[in-house]
Amino acid sequence: MEIVKIGVIGMGQMGRGIAEVCALSGFKVLVTDVDRDTINKSRSHIFEDLKKLEKKNKIKSGKSEVAIDLIISVKDFSEFNSCDLIIEAATEKEHVKKKIFSDLKPFVKCNAILATNTSSISVTRLASGTEKPENFMGLHFMNPVPLMNLVELVRGIATSDDTYETLQDFVVKLGKTSSVSEDFPAFIVNRVLMPMINEAIYSLYEGVGNVENIDRSMRLGANHPMGPLELADFIGLDTCLSIMNVLHEGLGDTKYRPCPLLVKYVEAGWLGRKTAKGFYDYSQNPAIPTR
Ligand code: NAD
Repeated sequence: MEIVKIGVIGMGQMGRGIAEVCALSGFKVLVTDVDRDTINKSRSHIFEDLKKLEKKNKIKSGKSEVAIDLIISVKDFSEFNSCDLIIEAATEKEHVKKKIFSDLKPFVKCNAILATNTSSISVTRLASGTEKPENFMGLHFMNPVPLMNLVELVRGIATSDDTYETLQDFVVKLGKTSSVSEDFPAFIVNRVLMPMINEAIYSLYEGVGNVENIDRSMRLGANHPMGPLELADFIGLDTCLSIMNVLHEGLGDTKYRPCPLLVKYVEAGWLGRKTAKGFYDYSQNPAIPTR
């Protein structure tokens, strides 16, 4: 099927990035969020992001204006009834995502594809709550979406070949590269990445090193572009904790237990960059380690 119009649900860092790259590739995009203030600000946030890309010469000058004109913010799902593809990029909580797909039901056009940007939750389980699980798939973009090349394709048990092939082509149209993961907890990227981040937090918790030394060790010693704690702040500590919980519950192995210090940071509302405080305090420039 041909994709012309796309709906994106959730205007956090991922949803905004997804809307941005879709519009840059010429698709019409409707965007929404549960939070009214976020909806009202989403287009201006996206425009700021686009202008930053222009400044860095990542996109041609004038492209921002063309792209932003293709993005419309809407207040409820009823407007999504003309979308060929709807991508859910809301908070990493299964009950939140299930409710979204349930509320969407009356407004999904008969042959539309539904996709989730979940980092870890079972695509098969999310699909089972929709009218057409064959038209459902995991489409896992990486952060920051405009700069990261990979999109993980995750087929649920019922996903049809048509749905898979349409989304595989769609990723090419976005100028990105796909990899295929089976539908197991956290797929490939986060199955490997998140236990490493969790282990870095355990190293901090057990006093093996402080924030600065752990990050410097992995940047200079393992040649990682960002230290694991800096990266955790960038991803969002709430998202990191949700992914570890999915790995722990889904695979039943104690090696995936989330570090109590990660739990404590999330309970404090220290979620990383999005709240300006996590393993670093971003109210200072340069950011200061919090441990
Ligand atoms: P975020 O916290 O920045 O944004 C989540 C957004 O979802 C918020 O604006 C929130 O208001 C909105 N939301 C919550 N409930 C909603 C609902 N019922 N309807 C509509 N909107 C709702 O989170 P994020 O980092 O953008 O992550 C979003 C999704 O993308 C998650 O599934 C996450 O696992 C996945 N993801 C995140 C990363 C990352 O590095 N952060 C990378 C890849 C995938």
